[in-house]
Amino acid sequence: SIYGDYIKSVIRTVPDWPQPGVNFRDITPLLQNSAAFRKLVDSFVHRYQEMEIDAVAAIDARGFIVGAPLAYELGCSFVPVRKKGKLPFRTISETYTLEYGEAEVELHSDAFKQGDRILIVDDLIATGGTMLAAAKLITRSGGQVVETATIVDLPDLGGSARIREAGFNVFAVCS
Ligand code: 5GP
Repeated sequence: SIYGDYIKSVIRTVPDWPQPGVNFRDITPLLQNSAAFRKLVDSFVHRYQEMEIDAVAAIDARGFIVGAPLAYELGCSFVPVRKKGKLPFRTISETYTLEYGEAEVELHSDAFKQGDRILIVDDLIATGGTMLAAAKLITRSGGQVVETATIVDLPDLGGSARIREAGFNVFAVCS
């Protein structure tokens, strides 16, 4: 994407966190830098402003950081896709497999209308499990997933390829 190299340059890699052997991509330096954060949000706004998005569905918790200003700029709804047990009303959920154990994402059953055009956003795609679970959940709820969007894709982990194989579009600001 247009600002991809710049955005990449303001993301920090923290070795051996949260466990030995993992290189964690830390977006907090990007958020601290107001010019970088603006360019990040603008990258998404530029891509989606003509796509008639009805709702931005953002994944708990770092997806919320870009999802909220994006929904505001697009003039559409904001829908939180939350970790299990956080949403108070009627929910529908999707379970997915992690390296060790399982995780679950939830959505309010009245979060959007049938056929609504939904953009899903998160900060990072690693194995793709989280994004794919969110995309399946929204599809099951009657939403039309226009695209799944992330700040960072880690292509070596195969997540974005897996999401595309399942039939969803993927956009990453940087890889
Ligand atoms: P996946 O389900 O694709 O394996 O992992 C992606 C999810 O875990 C995202 O919700 C993301 O926030 C989080 N995640 C995993 N690894 C990283 C990382 O290195 N940096 C950041 N910022 N998030 C990560």
